[in-house]
Amino acid sequence: MSDIAANLQKIRDQIERACEISGRSPNSVQLIAVSKTFPAEAIREAAEAGQLVFGESKLQEAEPKMEGLPSKLQWHFIGRIQRNKVRKLLPLFPFLHAIDSFRLAEYTSVIAEELGLFPQVFLQVNVGGELSKGGFEPTELEAEMEKLLLLKRLEIQGLMAIPPAGPDEESARKWFIELRELRDRMEEKFGVKLPGLSMGMSADFRIAIEEGATHVRVGSAIFGGRRYRVDGELG
Ligand SMILES: *Cc1c(COP(=O)(O)O)cnc(C)c1O
Repeated sequence: MSDIAANLQKIRDQIERACEISGRSPNSVQLIAVSKTFPAEAIREAAEAGQLVFGESKLQEAEPKMEGLPSKLQWHFIGRIQRNKVRKLLPLFPFLHAIDSFRLAEYTSVIAEELGLFPQVFLQVNVGGELSKGGFEPTELEAEMEKLLLLKRLEIQGLMAIPPAGPDEESARKWFIELRELRDRMEEKFGVKLPGLSMGMSADFRIAIEEGATHVRVGSAIFGGRRYRVDGELG
């Protein structure tokens, strides 16, 4: 077995165990293999090991890689979204994880209509209030939710967060709880279903699952180390 296939197997086992611990069905968590910075060959290898869902965070990097890969793969855009890239992103990525302002949401909805598409989106929340990260402040999201729900072209799946880096796996738990509780409040206040929680990366996806993650975005634990970490930051 290649390293990638072996890593995938290990992560699937860990996802299953985390689901067991929290009394959830293993089908309730989707593993997104984050392939940013890794070549198409690595993606092909993961696909051969049965992984069909991938995440990328830069259009200019992802586009050429995607060209030669099987069309059955499903692509999630997990990076920060620039307005001038939306028109190119939408046909390639049916899932966008980082809608981080009303302005971007509105614009994405307009372009989606022009293209005849209904993108599935997550609203990014800046749970840690970090200046370096994008996302709605929790109170801002509550204030804008009504307007967001009127954007008929966006299929809002739920919320997404990249919590502040912490010393260990457990330190992210409080942020995951915060995102879930915000989701629960919004569902109640606005009478909508927001089933998706996109949270958890290589270092903390098990904890995220215990706290309700439906989509975990795992890169280095599958493909190995990288030069840049999240949102294009060096680390
Ligand atoms: C890179 C990235 C990940 C994956 O991070 P790993 O620590 O390699 O698992 C997840 N989410 C986002 C938004 C990223 O940019």
